[in-house]
Amino acid sequence: RAKALGRCQHKLFDTDLSYEILERAELVAALHRLVEGDGLLLHYQPIYGIHARKVQSYEALARWNHPERGMIPPDVFIRLAEETGLIHQLGERILHLACSEALNWPAHINVSVNVSPLQLKNRKFPEIVKNVLEKTGLNGARLEVEITESVLMDEYEHKNVILNELKALGCKISMDDFGTGYSSLSYLWKFSFDKIKIDRSFIQALPDPTAKEIIQAILGIASIRAMTVTVEGVETAAQLQMVSNMGCSEAQGYYLGRPQQQAIAGTRDTETALVWE
Ligand code: C2E
Ligand code: MG
Ligand code: MG
Ligand code: MG
Repeated sequence: RAKALGRCQHKLFDTDLSYEILERAELVAALHRLVEGDGLLLHYQPIYGIHARKVQSYEALARWNHPERGMIPPDVFIRLAEETGLIHQLGERILHLACSEALNWPAHINVSVNVSPLQLKNRKFPEIVKNVLEKTGLNGARLEVEITESVLMDEYEHKNVILNELKALGCKISMDDFGTGYSSLSYLWKFSFDKIKIDRSFIQALPDPTAKEIIQAILGIASIRAMTVTVEGVETAAQLQMVSNMGCSEAQGYYLGRPQQQAIAGTRDTETALVWE
């Protein structure tokens, strides 16, 4: 019986594998259409200033509305776009969409855009950003660029030049998902980030004392470099309370607002609903 089952599983595996290859080829073909702008959507998730209890910015999160498969999450298609080199075009479209959308918001609210490591390798990236800002008319000071820490693993000098050019356009630079991947204090030392976004795994481990100590340590480092600390993945009032007490400046998470197609609608009423002790 075990043998029969084993054979069966083996066969299943083979079929799955060829299906995967087929599926991938099909997805890549469709990805070319996405890059042309067909089916690309951005959702916006609010980031709150904890002290003011007001929306400080919205993070643009890419969605692929595939005609047959429905919503494909960014973890799937961003990686595919990176592997196929389509990320440059796609990233530029995302940036353009996000910046035009932000023009519909009150001027004190920024837009935060995730940028792939590959985009940041491109020597022309600052020029692309500059052009998008010019075309859309968005003030560069309203654009925040999120990069993951693994971005900085190689080509320090090259990337430092690019980050500084982005800063010269007025943009703020955030280190995303801090504490995961290849964390290294040297990144914080070599690059002047404006913000650190602490990965949601630390917030979700609260009230675990070790998670708390790590968050406090990150806050300590951030204060040395005058960086803003944002916490990701706040799902409960208790978590918001804890990170607020610890002195974090900004918070984001399902408790405060889920990613939505329209930025302003669907956000918590900042005056009445954001109540915590
Ligand atoms: P990220 O930049 O760290 O974005 C946060 C992710 O966490 C989003 O998932 C968001 O929906 C989710 N999230 C927010 N609050 C909560 C919460 O309270 N609990 C939980 N469990 N999750 C929460 P999403 O939209 O699926 O995006 C996943 C990742 O894909 C992003 O992580 C980002 O790295 C990447 N990504 C998304 N859009 C883009 C893009 O336009 N360009 C690039 N290069 N990457 C993108
Ligand atoms: Mg992000
Ligand atoms: Mg993140
Ligand atoms: Mg993430």
